[in-house]
Amino acid sequence: MRRWAKQDRGDKVRSSRDYQTLHERQGVAIKLDKRHPSKLTFCSAIKERGNVPFTGAGAYMASDTPANLKFTLTGPGGATKETAFTSEKCWHRVGLAVPCEQTGTALLTIDVPARVRVLHIWGLDCGALQLPEMVVARNGGTERELNSTQAPECLYLPQERAIDMDPVPTEWQGAAISDKPGQSIVLKKCAYCQRLLPIDPKRPSALAFHKHNAKKTGHQNECRSCKKWRINNEFNPKRTTDQFHESSVISRERKIFLREPKILERIKDRNGAGLKSIVWEKFGRRCFRCRKKIALDEVQLDHTRPFAYLWPIDEYSTCLCADCNGFKRERFPVDVYTERELKRLSAITGLAYTELVKKEVNQRELKRILRNIVEFAKEWDPRTFNAIARKVKELLPKIDLFKALRKADEAVFEEVIANLQERPESVEVASAVTSARK
Ligand SMILES: [Zn+2]
Ligand SMILES: [Zn+2]
Repeated sequence: MRRWAKQDRGDKVRSSRDYQTLHERQGVAIKLDKRHPSKLTFCSAIKERGNVPFTGAGAYMASDTPANLKFTLTGPGGATKETAFTSEKCWHRVGLAVPCEQTGTALLTIDVPARVRVLHIWGLDCGALQLPEMVVARNGGTERELNSTQAPECLYLPQERAIDMDPVPTEWQGAAISDKPGQSIVLKKCAYCQRLLPIDPKRPSALAFHKHNAKKTGHQNECRSCKKWRINNEFNPKRTTDQFHESSVISRERKIFLREPKILERIKDRNGAGLKSIVWEKFGRRCFRCRKKIALDEVQLDHTRPFAYLWPIDEYSTCLCADCNGFKRERFPVDVYTERELKRLSAITGLAYTELVKKEVNQRELKRILRNIVEFAKEWDPRTFNAIARKVKELLPKIDLFKALRKADEAVFEEVIANLQERPESVEVASAVTSARK
């Protein structure tokens, strides 16, 4: 198994403080005969299958003079793919994947045009792809995704050494690995996959990390791929972080945490109808509050017990029209309805009156957060963490999710805080920070 496979849960045990520390490494220099084009061939024995049916190869390269190179990969099954890329004095990245369901030998050739005298390589690696589960679950392991950017980091190869493939020098036509160290390259650890991957301090965003002006190194903590699959893609593949309205990010993440898509699916499987039409019928096709007749497509399902306090959607939902839903918002029934209405709501939904009048955080879900607080803090947008922490504290002043996180993993806590402080809209963060730091 490749290195990634061992990593998931171990992350937080490993040092997680050095996401902004830089490491310098030396590439390997390959001397070429500039009078003619060269073909550099490498091979790798693929001994195990990965978790997606692809073999991938990637590297970072630089050359003494700008040149158009060709990178051709042939997997053990014979599938071949090539990609053209440019190299110049600064480092560039290249990566591709070919379909492959078997073990055997993978071959890689790098076609270098005449005129190039030195080619520098860092992180040349090839293997059966073993992607993090989160990437697979969100369809990051398709041929199209893997080849969409030429970015080697999305292949999740270890890329720990300058060259981790076997050269086949008999085919190198006079080219040879130099005895002298190659060009140096700067690496930074990814906060999620934990690999050390390249950045170019002079060209932010050029290599494996997006830029981030507020960070010490000018780059984000997570590599581009982890950033994409862990956070952004869950919501909307097209969005960039700030285009998305804050409350919508939070509510989508909360929905996923509360497993709403699954709950809705289960209800549909069991009843043959969607929750919306079940609730609509249950309420006599009327809005519960104003009692007007509404069509199915006018129904707004209200969580009854508020979603913000971790109550997932379920069969106790209330049928409301748009106006009444806007009026109720994320309030508890007891804060919105009269006693008579509460009794009627209890009779229709089947939720006990004593439950309906309570103002409680859903304890079961809260416990789930507390049990895995570090994982949730890493997975969620920090604004979601903050929003949930505030709601919990409002009803349970003794439970401070920020404090709990700090106790469990100080580095992740600092991460969340730093991220929140960078967001102007998170005014209330200051108080969360001060209280958690006490
Ligand atoms: Zn990463
Ligand atoms: Zn209404």
